[in-house]
Amino acid sequence: MKIYLDGRFVDDADAKVSVFDHGLLYGDGVFEGIRLYGGNVFRLEEHLERFEYSAKAILLTLPLSRKELVDVTCETCRQNGLTDAYIRLVATRGVGDLGLAPWLCAKPSLFCIASKISLYPKEYYDNGLAIVTVPTRRIGPAALPPTIKSLNYLNNILGKIEAKQFGALEAIMLNEQGYVAECTADNVFIVHKGEILTPSASQGALKGVTRSTIFDIAQEIGVPIREVNMTRYDVWCADECFLTGTGAEVIPVVKLDGREIGAGKPGPITQRVLASFRRRVLVEGTRL
Ligand code: PMP
Repeated sequence: MKIYLDGRFVDDADAKVSVFDHGLLYGDGVFEGIRLYGGNVFRLEEHLERFEYSAKAILLTLPLSRKELVDVTCETCRQNGLTDAYIRLVATRGVGDLGLAPWLCAKPSLFCIASKISLYPKEYYDNGLAIVTVPTRRIGPAALPPTIKSLNYLNNILGKIEAKQFGALEAIMLNEQGYVAECTADNVFIVHKGEILTPSASQGALKGVTRSTIFDIAQEIGVPIREVNMTRYDVWCADECFLTGTGAEVIPVVKLDGREIGAGKPGPITQRVLASFRRRVLVEGTRL
């Protein structure tokens, strides 16, 4: 496997960063997870815009321009002969000393990995996921804005561990106020009385690229969509529920904390959204 690392393509065995890299020492860095479908990088410009904003928010100057980021992402896929892949683009603060100070890190490191993707088993797309609410709260925008896709994922990892302890593959994380923020690595949507509803970024949701695709799909299929403050009550009483993410795509949810949602099976609007999403991934994007 060929990895792009700071200006060169190297074998995966040689793709190494320093133990003094602040990405490793402090989680000081940003990343993107991107998909390649049939030779199209799905919504690459949107991912790169979020990558640039994440970097800007932590005052990290990316070493590459937008055009160079496009080239690096596509070339990493080409070098590995991939037409379908999961792409991980990472920028770290770079090598510094053992203190926090990012200004002592001389130059950021940027790498790109393109690899095969492991998906949720197909049965969950057909029958829906059973998820739980975990006790760990999603970190609030005033502490560390969840809109920054940073290398600090410990909050989500604690949620993921708890989900597993409760026997679930994904979990809803509430914010400090008790409103639904998002899942550990996915955004949350419910359908209620013919409307699609989702928490806003100010409640602690990442502005997911898949999430923003759902807004376009809702318009296409003529279903109203809006951002709301969502409680667990709203999920209990929803007609349908689904999650979105680059890895998960659009996945129906049929149970929360052991309670059935709606009819206890993937709902009709979720299925229309999923069908539209599967059409779109093949045509929307940057051709390799
Ligand atoms: N929330 C979190 C915390 C995430 O890490 C992700 C990405 N896996 C998402 C939501 C979904 O965002 P996207 O659709 O851009 O993958």
